[in-house]
Amino acid sequence: MTILNFIDGSYREGSEGKSFSNVNPATGAEIGVVHEASQAEVEDAVEAAKAALTGPWGKMTTARTGQADHRVATEIERRADDFLAAEVADTVKPRHVVSHIDIPRGAANFRMFADVVSTMPGESFNTPTPDGGQAFIYTVSKPKGVDAAVCPRNFPLLLMIWKVGPELACGNTAVVKPSEEIARTAALLGDVIDAGVNHHGVFNVAQRFGPASAGEFLTSNPDVDAITFTGETGTGQAIMQKAATGVRDISFELGGKNPAIVFADADLDKAVEGLSRSVFLNTGQVCLGTERVYVERPIFDAFVARMAAAAQDFKPGVTGDRAYLGPLISAEHREKVLAYYPRAVEDGPTVFTGGGVPEISGAETGGFFVEPTLWIDVAHGDTVMREEIFGPCCDILPFDSEDEVIALANDTVYGLCASVWTENLSRGHRVAAAMEVGVCWVNSWFLRDLRTAFGGSGHSGIGREGGVHSLEFYTEITNICVKL
Ligand code: NAD
Repeated sequence: MTILNFIDGSYREGSEGKSFSNVNPATGAEIGVVHEASQAEVEDAVEAAKAALTGPWGKMTTARTGQADHRVATEIERRADDFLAAEVADTVKPRHVVSHIDIPRGAANFRMFADVVSTMPGESFNTPTPDGGQAFIYTVSKPKGVDAAVCPRNFPLLLMIWKVGPELACGNTAVVKPSEEIARTAALLGDVIDAGVNHHGVFNVAQRFGPASAGEFLTSNPDVDAITFTGETGTGQAIMQKAATGVRDISFELGGKNPAIVFADADLDKAVEGLSRSVFLNTGQVCLGTERVYVERPIFDAFVARMAAAAQDFKPGVTGDRAYLGPLISAEHREKVLAYYPRAVEDGPTVFTGGGVPEISGAETGGFFVEPTLWIDVAHGDTVMREEIFGPCCDILPFDSEDEVIALANDTVYGLCASVWTENLSRGHRVAAAMEVGVCWVNSWFLRDLRTAFGGSGHSGIGREGGVHSLEFYTEITNICVKL
């Protein structure tokens, strides 16, 4: 299959004639060829996005842009089979997960942002003036302009829509740089969004890599007004330097080293079910996944045994009735994850389960699989405890007091999310509020209402997305003061 760029309403190859392989991570086999956008195509995409702002799209009210978002949602639902094929080919995620979660939620995101924008309030005041008169002061919101959306590899459709939905609802135009690992969904969105918004140039896609490539060309382009990025913290720092030129606004959703705290009074069934999903879902390639679990000492051994049993349920492979643990997204990422496996046990901690590469036979022999892995007692200062691994693995450590565990959980440069497991309601609230993170769950994980604030503090991000928070980023406010 040939995967192309999407610029000003047309699918295009790159003018330099370069391409790269789209690989099935379960087999390592090439399943498509992606045409690279050169600097010229990135410039064309930005120019098309800029031009679209001066046409009918740029003059639309948010009532009309919201309707466009609703039409895009309908188009995603109509082309659900195509999205299912694209997502499964790129990620080899289970088909039922993609058809029941990614696609319906993707469409729902467009609808949610359309609804939120239609009720977004402005401010208005009658203000007394020094001369004894009055002024009427109110605000109007306008699109920010051309937005660059640089996207990661772990949830192709959802994380792209999470940016494009509010961008378009607020009347912006977008140039998307999808991850090089997952090029298909973004390409497919080209047609789908054009059908919904009915104007060329509003949505564009430039395929290629990050540094010295499409990602950098896009974020350095002076006609880009704002940059929204989801990905690794180091990449965010590189993009931030580019954004400084021209003082462009940024919204960053970055990495994490997320802790979970399990108190002795927790419902162990709930905690093990929730945390095994949190560690192993999507083969650990979830930004909100848990990589550190602190367990109160009286239930430590019981918890570890239950987690190890739960890990056995995640069978490496892509078939079977039980929850399966798919491959990591690329050979390069597997190498990175596997480099942590021996490092974790260097100073004597125990591998409780897993720890290497599983034996796989048949067509999947060449896939990028790793074993679900639990360590206990990795030293708190070890790099394995401090760096994001982004694989199906975590460290489990005992603790003795609430104050101690709050300090341990917060002892990280990241601040994305945490979870607290306890049947003591006051303690749940108290410890959740003490977590230095953007999102904290109590007795659950991954439960979201997309209208609420989402994001991280510290090295995990800048700004918040979700509902009105996304709309704030994608709009400029003008304060108008009328002397009466
Ligand atoms: P990544 O940073 O390697 O790549 C993300 C995107 O940035 C890709 O499209 C890549 O091509 C591009 N890129 C790379 N270098 C660039 C540069 N110098 N200039 C411009 N663009 C560049 O991230 P990834 O591996 O695709 O995704 C995994 C990471 O994303 C993890 O750290 C994970 O925690 C994080 N993530 C965070 C959230 C969140 O909401 N906080 C959600 C999903 C993933």
